[in-house]
Amino acid sequence: MLLVRGIRVALGAAQPEKQATAVALKTLRIAENAVAHTGVAKLSVDARHGKPVLVYTIAISLKNEGAEPAYVGAAPCVAIARHVEFAPVIGSQTMQHRPVVCGLGPAGLFAALSLARAGYRPIVLERGPALDERVKAVEHFSATGQLNPNANIQFGEGGAGTFSDGKLTTRINDELCGFVTQTLLKHGAPAEIAYKQKPHVGTDLLRGVILSIRKEIEALGGTVQFNTCLTGLVHRNGRLTGIQTTQGDIACETLILAVGHSARDTFAMLAEQGLPLECKPFSVGFRAEHLQTEIEKSLYHQAAGHPALPRGEYQLSHHVGNRCVYTFCMCPGGQVVASASEEGGALTNGMSYHARDGKNANAAVVVSVDGSDFSGDPMKAIAFQRELERAAYRVGGGAYQAPAETVGSFLKGQGRLDLGRVQPTYDRGVQAADLGSLLPEELTSSLRVGLQAFERKLKGYAAADAVLTGLETRTSSPVRLLRGENFQCTGLSGLYPCGEGAGYAGGIVSAAVDGLRCARALMQQYAPK
Ligand SMILES: Cc1cc2nc3c(=O)[nH]c(=O)nc-3n(C[C@H](O)[C@H](O)[C@H](O)COP(=O)(O)OP(=O)(O)OC[C@H]3O[C@@H](n4cnc5c(N)ncnc54)[C@H](O)[C@@H]3O)c2cc1C
Repeated sequence: MLLVRGIRVALGAAQPEKQATAVALKTLRIAENAVAHTGVAKLSVDARHGKPVLVYTIAISLKNEGAEPAYVGAAPCVAIARHVEFAPVIGSQTMQHRPVVCGLGPAGLFAALSLARAGYRPIVLERGPALDERVKAVEHFSATGQLNPNANIQFGEGGAGTFSDGKLTTRINDELCGFVTQTLLKHGAPAEIAYKQKPHVGTDLLRGVILSIRKEIEALGGTVQFNTCLTGLVHRNGRLTGIQTTQGDIACETLILAVGHSARDTFAMLAEQGLPLECKPFSVGFRAEHLQTEIEKSLYHQAAGHPALPRGEYQLSHHVGNRCVYTFCMCPGGQVVASASEEGGALTNGMSYHARDGKNANAAVVVSVDGSDFSGDPMKAIAFQRELERAAYRVGGGAYQAPAETVGSFLKGQGRLDLGRVQPTYDRGVQAADLGSLLPEELTSSLRVGLQAFERKLKGYAAADAVLTGLETRTSSPVRLLRGENFQCTGLSGLYPCGEGAGYAGGIVSAAVDGLRCARALMQQYAPK
């Protein structure tokens, strides 16, 4: 696929996409009948010089894909997105048992898929249920407040990202990201993720993709065991020999541990077994909601509302002393969701459907914490998260309602929810509360400074009637399980700490890539049984 960047079209032009595509074809000197597909990879507004201009990146696929590299030199604004192969070298060591993958989030899913494709027939364990049953459990919780600790927004087939915006943006620069995209496409993700600069799938479409990948794993001889939780590791002379689960013991010499950032019982088990866990930085704060139209006015200025423009997105950050206040996981036209996985703890997150057509924009507004806040003790970091979630639950009035406050009130510490244009979307309902009092004073004051700085960057961000819902506590894993260059745990051979929970990823794509890396390392050492 070829990308032609920086094509400028006047804001008022008729059929701007058609014009931009024509310019792209002219730049490449390609006849229309040689083209298989064109699309808008990126569209932004340049409003710097009074007259706003639309700036396009156009993606073009040729019928003869093999001819594409020849066009890369056509102009400096032309680039190519290449097809990525995943072809691990297979090792020679004999395996006595099938490899086990624990956790069926993006990391476990991609690890298991690549093992299955190479003939390893992995056994995949997932503490939660299969997707259909999980969706029912999440809907039941949303309607009644009755939480199933193993089937919720964090746990169950597909992992934490299943009820998400399905944003596929990542900061990691690994060519395996391209392989992840290709795999998602093969399993039914919308074609635009191949070329959009900020691709997203949406929770509605993502679910079908996850199911389809699992079916491929099973068709290739993999076994997926739902409602099966890893509870212990068995080892001899520093080598893994088996695992304990809620459904019985399994003998194995390799385990890819991809349990996600919410598996606190599993982290406690690893700590008890004396494995090398350390603190990892994470962040806490709130979910902010604004009207999507107001965000777009601030981003697009006079061009706001132009039908060609995508839903406006933002990412803001501001340093306050040693801490960073930043926005994270922005969901345009999305919804704030109750994301608890433990009884008596309330927490927020955000999601969108593919259409992103909700009234509100939401994003986490969080402040960083790290090992120095917890004397380097990972169990203290987890206890801190839990305390915050319990405080939010109490102040929310129970039944997983969440404490909320309007920004004007939060900045003054008044504890009021003076609703105006923005109606909170948190599914379990909200209660007015003094959000600042739920966090340590230093973190609260950093968040106040941060919000005021964001207002200078994006007008209206600290509008008095913007809504904050709390608390956002699971931005990433508070722990890291140390691994060496061979991707095995430094304290236990055969154990592959993987994905976000083990501290090696943050987000759907980076977790999926880490799953591939761990599976590749395993395959480099062992031949399939
Ligand atoms: C509501 C929401 C929205 C999000 N939106 C986005 C987004 O738009 N884009 C993005 O990039 N990221 C998003 N994220 C973050 C993203 O989902 C995670 O970064 C990603 O899922 C991490 O992948 P993982 O495979 O490492 O772990 P997880 O996805 O957390 O998967 C871990 C799996 O392990 C299982 N498990 C846990 N413990 C055990 C055990 N002991 N035994 C067996 N199984 C176990 C869990 O049930 C779970 O299914 C969102 C997260 C949430 C909660």
